[in-house]
Amino acid sequence: MNDAMIFSRLDLPRIIAAWSATRAVYVPAVSGALTAFTLFDPERGLSLDYGNSTLSPKPFFFPQTECLLRFSTRGEDAGLAVAEPQGTQKRVIFGIRPCDAGAFSLLDRVFCQDKGSTDPSWASRRARTALVGIGCNAPDAACFCTSMGGGPHHARGLDILATDLGDEVLLTPITDKGRALMAEIPAVAAATPARGARGGTALGRAEMLRINAEAVMARSPFSGLTLEAVARRSQRTVHALGIWAKIAETCLNCGACTFTCPTCHCFDIQDETKGPSGRRVRNWDTCMSWLFTAHASGHTPRPTKVERVRQRFLHKFKYMPMNLDGRPGCVGCGRCVRQCPVNIDIREVLRAMDVACRAAPPSGASRDEAVS
Ligand code: SF4
Ligand code: SF4
Repeated sequence: MNDAMIFSRLDLPRIIAAWSATRAVYVPAVSGALTAFTLFDPERGLSLDYGNSTLSPKPFFFPQTECLLRFSTRGEDAGLAVAEPQGTQKRVIFGIRPCDAGAFSLLDRVFCQDKGSTDPSWASRRARTALVGIGCNAPDAACFCTSMGGGPHHARGLDILATDLGDEVLLTPITDKGRALMAEIPAVAAATPARGARGGTALGRAEMLRINAEAVMARSPFSGLTLEAVARRSQRTVHALGIWAKIAETCLNCGACTFTCPTCHCFDIQDETKGPSGRRVRNWDTCMSWLFTAHASGHTPRPTKVERVRQRFLHKFKYMPMNLDGRPGCVGCGRCVRQCPVNIDIREVLRAMDVACRAAPPSGASRDEAVS
């Protein structure tokens, strides 16, 4: 059954205010050049007029720093205690873009691979957070989600997909969590089921918006990027392509690409001590830093930025697809394209990888068939 509902756009603040009564609701807020998710404030209202948040919403699930356990070597506190995941409140993130929701469904595979290796912090935050996404009617020039298995109106990872129809909003529940959230919408919001003549019109407008948005992306000079040739070459062949030194030449190893990325998830674990006690913390890290792989001996297997830059792209386009049923470790959100201070464009890198893989001679390895 199609249980989508149509609301006046003017009702959205009332709907969000109702959700706010029992949970924290975060909405996008534009401030100058920065767009960030902030707690919904009825006084401030709601703006849907934004591209995407400047930084990804990843910290909602994977904070930049978090305490894993506390320990002490003296007194009554001697021993260690595992830290509970911070905060227990239910949350809604309203206005998340489909690419970011897709990124979190990807990271579910990383942080919760099986029952024996579920990351409790990630799982707890995911379980108590509902994602209400808004389809992109006007994708940014840097976006390329359609090349990464997504789309501007894709629902993967979302609990509710909202479509901005202008004066109205179509809310389509995707999961049981989304349906429960829809059931909480107050009667004051004038809902119309997306059935019947008016509903049919709204669904038609939503479909046209999706088609138009995908057509915009199809006109991009980077449309049609593919991982096919990279997938058919061996790790060794892709590793040895002659493209890496040139790509790495201008990179500053600043890490802006990885810290703004919704799918990057490298971290470091450190013990911070003060006197007889301390805590173990998990902090974001970046494969672009030489320290990330430095051994205690001082040796590092990625001593120059060529190895580090290659690692970033191989992880996203070779290793993650190999381990995650073909899904790339990139959702095409375009943040790294927009944020790189020296204009390294991941789409150009993928195209260079594709061209070089097609041209490389077969190595004879079983996974290394010739590509057309
Ligand atoms: S943002 Fe650009 S310069 Fe900085 S590490 Fe990433 S690719 Fe290199
Ligand atoms: S690699 Fe770049 S385009 Fe891909 S998900 Fe990360 S920030 Fe977005």
